Amino acid sequence: MHGMDGRTIVVTGAASGIGAATVTALAAAGARVIAADLGWADESPGGQAVELATLDVRREEHWAELAGQLSTTKQAGAGGAIDGLVNAAGITRRARLHDVTAADFEAAFAVNATGPALGIRFLAPLLGDGSAIVNVGSAAGAMAHYGIAYGASKWALRGITKTAAMELGPRGIRVNLVSPGFIETPMTASAPEAFRAVNLRSTPLGRSGRAEEVAAVIVQLVSPAASFVTGAEIAVDGGLTGHGGGLPIARAMGSAHPQD
Ligand code: NAD
Repeated sequence: MHGMDGRTIVVTGAASGIGAATVTALAAAGARVIAADLGWADESPGGQAVELATLDVRREEHWAELAGQLSTTKQAGAGGAIDGLVNAAGITRRARLHDVTAADFEAAFAVNATGPALGIRFLAPLLGDGSAIVNVGSAAGAMAHYGIAYGASKWALRGITKTAAMELGPRGIRVNLVSPGFIETPMTASAPEAFRAVNLRSTPLGRSGRAEEVAAVIVQLVSPAASFVTGAEIAVDGGLTGHGGGLPIARAMGSAHPQD
Protein backbone atom coordinates (compact mmCIF):
# COMPACT_ATOMS: atom_id res chain seq x y z
CA MET A 1 0.00 0.00 0.00
CA HIS A 2 2.87 2.36 0.81
CA GLY A 3 5.17 1.17 -1.96
CA MET A 4 7.88 0.24 0.54
CA ASP A 5 8.71 -3.17 -0.97
CA GLY A 6 12.43 -3.47 -1.64
CA ARG A 7 13.22 -0.20 0.15
CA THR A 8 15.84 -0.03 2.90
CA ILE A 9 15.22 2.42 5.74
CA VAL A 10 17.48 3.25 8.71
CA VAL A 11 15.65 4.09 11.96
CA THR A 12 17.42 5.50 15.03
CA GLY A 13 16.01 5.26 18.55
CA ALA A 14 14.57 2.02 17.24
CA ALA A 15 14.56 0.08 20.53
CA SER A 16 11.77 2.02 22.20
CA GLY A 17 8.63 4.09 21.81
CA ILE A 18 8.10 5.92 18.52
CA GLY A 19 11.25 4.48 16.90
CA ALA A 20 10.23 0.90 17.71
CA ALA A 21 6.70 1.49 16.41
CA THR A 22 8.19 2.94 13.22
CA VAL A 23 10.34 -0.16 12.72
CA THR A 24 7.27 -2.38 13.07
CA ALA A 25 5.18 -0.23 10.71
CA LEU A 26 7.90 -0.01 8.05
CA ALA A 27 8.51 -3.76 8.16
CA ALA A 28 4.77 -4.37 7.88
CA ALA A 29 4.71 -2.07 4.83
CA GLY A 30 7.34 -4.25 3.16
CA ALA A 31 10.56 -2.34 3.89
CA ARG A 32 13.91 -3.76 4.96
CA VAL A 33 14.70 -1.90 8.18
CA ILE A 34 18.08 -1.18 9.77
CA ALA A 35 17.06 -0.61 13.40
CA ALA A 36 19.69 1.41 15.27
CA ASP A 37 19.95 2.22 18.97
CA LEU A 38 22.48 2.45 21.81
CA GLY A 39 22.06 -1.23 22.57
CA TRP A 40 19.69 -4.13 22.31
CA ALA A 41 17.96 -6.20 24.96
CA ASP A 42 16.83 -9.73 24.22
CA GLU A 43 13.37 -8.44 23.32
CA SER A 44 14.00 -6.63 20.04
CA PRO A 45 11.70 -5.66 17.20
CA GLY A 46 11.58 -8.89 15.28
CA GLY A 47 10.95 -10.09 11.80
CA GLN A 48 13.34 -11.14 9.10
CA ALA A 49 13.16 -7.72 7.48
CA VAL A 50 14.71 -6.02 10.54
CA GLU A 51 18.48 -5.86 11.05
CA LEU A 52 19.78 -4.53 14.37
CA ALA A 53 22.62 -2.01 14.56
CA THR A 54 24.31 -0.53 17.62
CA LEU A 55 24.84 3.18 17.10
CA ASP A 56 25.19 6.29 19.25
CA VAL A 57 23.83 9.15 17.14
CA ARG A 58 26.26 11.58 18.84
CA ARG A 59 29.31 9.73 17.49
CA GLU A 60 30.57 10.58 14.01
CA GLU A 61 32.62 7.38 13.85
CA HIS A 62 29.49 5.28 14.48
CA TRP A 63 27.70 6.94 11.56
CA ALA A 64 30.79 6.53 9.37
CA GLU A 65 30.96 2.83 10.25
CA LEU A 66 27.25 2.28 9.49
CA ALA A 67 27.57 4.16 6.20
CA GLY A 68 30.57 2.00 5.28
CA GLN A 69 28.65 -1.20 6.02
CA LEU A 70 25.59 -0.10 4.07
CA SER A 71 27.55 1.13 1.06
CA THR A 72 28.90 -2.37 0.46
CA THR A 73 25.33 -3.54 -0.21
CA LYS A 74 24.86 -0.98 -2.98
CA GLN A 75 24.12 -2.60 -6.30
CA ALA A 76 25.61 -1.15 -9.46
CA GLY A 77 22.99 0.80 -11.36
CA ALA A 78 20.47 0.69 -8.51
CA GLY A 79 19.53 4.16 -7.13
CA GLY A 80 21.10 4.33 -3.67
CA ALA A 81 22.30 1.85 -1.08
CA ILE A 82 19.43 2.94 1.16
CA ASP A 83 16.12 4.73 0.59
CA GLY A 84 15.41 6.50 3.83
CA LEU A 85 16.43 7.61 7.32
CA VAL A 86 14.16 8.17 10.31
CA ASN A 87 15.85 10.13 13.10
CA ALA A 88 13.72 9.11 16.10
CA ALA A 89 16.41 8.90 18.81
CA GLY A 90 15.91 11.54 21.45
CA ILE A 91 16.34 12.36 25.12
CA THR A 92 14.42 14.71 27.35
CA ARG A 93 15.81 17.32 29.74
CA ARG A 94 13.32 18.86 32.15
CA ALA A 95 15.47 21.54 33.86
CA ARG A 96 13.78 24.95 34.00
CA LEU A 97 15.28 28.32 33.12
CA HIS A 98 16.32 28.96 36.74
CA ASP A 99 18.35 25.77 37.14
CA VAL A 100 19.34 24.69 33.62
CA THR A 101 23.05 23.98 33.08
CA ALA A 102 25.41 23.96 30.13
CA ALA A 103 25.45 20.18 30.49
CA ASP A 104 21.66 20.05 29.94
CA PHE A 105 22.01 22.02 26.71
CA GLU A 106 24.97 19.94 25.55
CA ALA A 107 23.18 16.64 26.24
CA ALA A 108 19.89 17.65 24.61
CA PHE A 109 21.48 19.22 21.56
CA ALA A 110 23.96 16.35 21.06
CA VAL A 111 21.21 13.72 20.74
CA ASN A 112 18.23 15.74 19.46
CA ALA A 113 19.91 18.12 17.00
CA THR A 114 23.53 17.22 16.24
CA GLY A 115 22.67 13.50 16.06
CA PRO A 116 20.08 13.84 13.29
CA ALA A 117 22.32 16.30 11.43
CA LEU A 118 25.25 13.84 11.56
CA GLY A 119 22.97 11.04 10.38
CA ILE A 120 21.91 13.09 7.38
CA ARG A 121 25.50 14.14 6.66
CA PHE A 122 26.83 10.56 6.67
CA LEU A 123 23.91 8.73 5.07
CA ALA A 124 22.85 11.29 2.44
CA PRO A 125 25.58 10.08 0.05
CA LEU A 126 23.91 6.64 0.13
CA LEU A 127 20.42 7.97 -0.63
CA GLY A 128 19.18 8.00 -4.20
CA ASP A 129 16.58 9.99 -6.11
CA GLY A 130 13.18 9.40 -4.48
CA SER A 131 14.58 8.78 -0.99
CA ALA A 132 13.28 10.47 2.13
CA ILE A 133 14.40 11.52 5.60
CA VAL A 134 12.04 12.10 8.53
CA ASN A 135 13.19 13.86 11.69
CA VAL A 136 11.14 13.43 14.85
CA GLY A 137 10.71 16.86 16.38
CA SER A 138 8.23 17.78 19.08
CA ALA A 139 5.38 20.09 19.94
CA ALA A 140 8.05 21.52 22.29
CA GLY A 141 9.75 22.83 19.15
CA ALA A 142 6.64 24.70 18.05
CA MET A 143 5.95 26.72 21.19
CA ALA A 144 7.50 27.82 24.47
CA HIS A 145 8.41 24.78 26.56
CA TYR A 146 9.10 24.53 30.29
CA GLY A 147 12.14 22.28 29.74
CA ILE A 148 14.23 24.95 28.05
CA ALA A 149 17.13 22.82 26.74
CA TYR A 150 14.86 20.12 25.32
CA GLY A 151 12.57 22.68 23.67
CA ALA A 152 15.49 24.60 22.20
CA SER A 153 17.01 21.40 20.78
CA LYS A 154 13.74 20.62 18.99
CA TRP A 155 13.55 24.17 17.60
CA ALA A 156 17.09 23.57 16.29
CA LEU A 157 15.95 20.36 14.61
CA ARG A 158 13.38 22.34 12.64
CA GLY A 159 16.19 24.47 11.22
CA ILE A 160 18.25 21.39 10.41
CA THR A 161 15.26 19.84 8.65
CA LYS A 162 14.64 22.88 6.47
CA THR A 163 18.31 23.30 5.57
CA ALA A 164 18.63 19.62 4.67
CA ALA A 165 15.46 19.82 2.55
CA MET A 166 16.97 22.77 0.67
CA GLU A 167 20.37 21.14 0.20
CA LEU A 168 19.18 17.66 -0.77
CA GLY A 169 16.13 18.60 -2.86
CA PRO A 170 18.15 18.88 -6.08
CA ARG A 171 19.13 15.22 -5.62
CA GLY A 172 15.49 14.19 -5.28
CA ILE A 173 15.81 13.54 -1.53
CA ARG A 174 12.95 14.81 0.65
CA VAL A 175 13.38 15.86 4.29
CA ASN A 176 10.45 16.44 6.64
CA LEU A 177 9.70 16.85 10.34
CA VAL A 178 7.03 15.07 12.37
CA SER A 179 6.19 16.84 15.63
CA PRO A 180 4.46 14.61 18.19
CA GLY A 181 2.44 15.94 21.09
CA PHE A 182 1.99 13.86 24.24
CA ILE A 183 2.57 10.23 23.21
CA GLU A 184 2.55 7.25 25.59
CA THR A 185 6.15 5.95 25.56
CA PRO A 186 8.85 5.23 28.15
CA MET A 187 9.94 8.88 27.77
CA THR A 188 6.59 10.28 28.90
CA ALA A 189 6.08 7.53 31.50
CA SER A 190 8.60 9.48 33.59
CA ALA A 191 6.93 12.87 33.01
CA PRO A 192 5.53 14.75 36.02
CA GLU A 193 1.82 14.03 36.48
CA ALA A 194 1.03 17.75 36.21
CA PHE A 195 2.64 17.83 32.76
CA ARG A 196 0.55 14.90 31.59
CA ALA A 197 -2.69 16.35 32.97
CA VAL A 198 -2.28 19.82 31.49
CA ASN A 199 -1.21 18.36 28.13
CA LEU A 200 -4.39 16.31 27.90
CA ARG A 201 -6.51 19.30 28.96
CA SER A 202 -4.82 21.40 26.24
CA THR A 203 -5.33 18.81 23.49
CA PRO A 204 -8.58 19.23 21.51
CA LEU A 205 -8.83 15.45 20.94
CA GLY A 206 -8.72 15.10 24.74
CA ARG A 207 -6.33 12.17 24.98
CA SER A 208 -2.70 11.19 24.63
CA GLY A 209 -1.39 9.66 21.43
CA ARG A 210 0.01 6.21 20.70
CA ALA A 211 3.45 5.58 19.19
CA GLU A 212 1.71 3.73 16.33
CA GLU A 213 -0.17 6.92 15.42
CA VAL A 214 3.12 8.77 14.98
CA ALA A 215 4.70 5.86 13.12
CA ALA A 216 1.85 5.82 10.59
CA VAL A 217 2.58 9.42 9.60
CA ILE A 218 6.33 8.76 9.46
CA VAL A 219 5.78 5.81 7.09
CA GLN A 220 3.58 7.98 4.89
CA LEU A 221 6.27 10.69 4.68
CA VAL A 222 9.05 8.19 3.95
CA SER A 223 7.00 6.53 1.23
CA PRO A 224 6.54 7.65 -2.40
CA ALA A 225 2.97 8.65 -1.44
CA ALA A 226 4.53 11.91 -0.17
CA SER A 227 6.66 12.43 -3.30
CA PHE A 228 6.13 16.24 -3.46
CA VAL A 229 6.37 16.93 0.28
CA THR A 230 9.67 18.31 1.57
CA GLY A 231 10.72 20.86 4.18
CA ALA A 232 7.33 20.35 5.82
CA GLU A 233 6.40 20.03 9.47
CA ILE A 234 3.53 17.72 10.36
CA ALA A 235 2.05 17.92 13.85
CA VAL A 236 0.83 14.60 15.28
CA ASP A 237 -0.46 16.06 18.50
CA GLY A 238 -4.24 15.79 18.70
CA GLY A 239 -4.52 19.51 17.94
CA LEU A 240 -2.27 20.67 20.82
CA THR A 241 -0.32 23.23 18.80
CA GLY A 242 -3.02 23.94 16.23
CA HIS A 243 -5.20 26.02 18.55
CA GLY A 244 -2.29 28.32 19.42
CA GLY A 245 -3.72 29.22 22.81
CA GLY A 246 -7.29 29.56 21.54
CA LEU A 247 -8.61 26.53 23.44
CA PRO A 248 -8.82 28.01 26.96
CA ILE A 249 -10.37 31.17 25.49
CA ALA A 250 -13.01 29.18 23.57
CA ARG A 251 -13.76 27.13 26.69
CA ALA A 252 -14.23 30.32 28.72
CA MET A 253 -16.71 31.53 26.08
CA GLY A 254 -18.85 28.40 26.49
CA SER A 255 -19.80 25.60 24.10
CA ALA A 256 -19.55 26.06 20.34
CA HIS A 257 -22.71 23.92 20.10
CA PRO A 258 -25.19 25.18 22.69
CA GLN A 259 -27.42 22.16 22.01
CA ASP A 260 -24.65 19.82 23.35
P1 NAD B 1 11.91 6.68 24.17
O1 NAD B 1 12.71 7.13 25.34
O2 NAD B 1 10.87 5.64 24.35
O3 NAD B 1 12.87 6.22 22.98
C1 NAD B 1 14.01 6.94 22.64
C2 NAD B 1 15.06 5.98 22.10
O4 NAD B 1 16.19 6.77 21.69
C3 NAD B 1 15.55 4.97 23.15
O5 NAD B 1 15.49 3.65 22.62
C4 NAD B 1 16.98 5.41 23.40
O6 NAD B 1 17.86 4.33 23.71
C5 NAD B 1 17.35 6.05 22.06
N1 NAD B 1 18.49 6.95 22.21
C6 NAD B 1 18.70 7.89 23.17
N2 NAD B 1 19.90 8.44 23.01
C7 NAD B 1 20.46 7.85 21.92
C8 NAD B 1 21.71 7.99 21.25
N3 NAD B 1 22.65 8.86 21.69
N4 NAD B 1 21.94 7.22 20.16
C9 NAD B 1 21.02 6.33 19.72
N5 NAD B 1 19.83 6.14 20.32
C10 NAD B 1 19.57 6.90 21.40
O7 NAD B 1 11.27 8.03 23.62
P2 NAD B 1 10.09 8.31 22.56
O8 NAD B 1 9.01 8.96 23.30
O9 NAD B 1 9.83 7.13 21.69
O10 NAD B 1 10.81 9.45 21.71
C11 NAD B 1 11.19 9.28 20.35
C12 NAD B 1 11.36 10.66 19.75
O11 NAD B 1 10.11 11.34 19.81
C13 NAD B 1 12.37 11.53 20.50
O12 NAD B 1 13.10 12.30 19.58
C14 NAD B 1 11.48 12.43 21.34
O13 NAD B 1 12.10 13.65 21.66
C15 NAD B 1 10.30 12.61 20.41
N6 NAD B 1 9.06 13.02 21.05
C16 NAD B 1 8.41 12.20 21.92
C17 NAD B 1 7.23 12.63 22.48
C18 NAD B 1 6.43 11.79 23.43
O14 NAD B 1 5.41 12.30 23.95
N7 NAD B 1 6.79 10.56 23.71
C19 NAD B 1 6.71 13.89 22.17
C20 NAD B 1 7.40 14.69 21.29
C21 NAD B 1 8.57 14.24 20.73
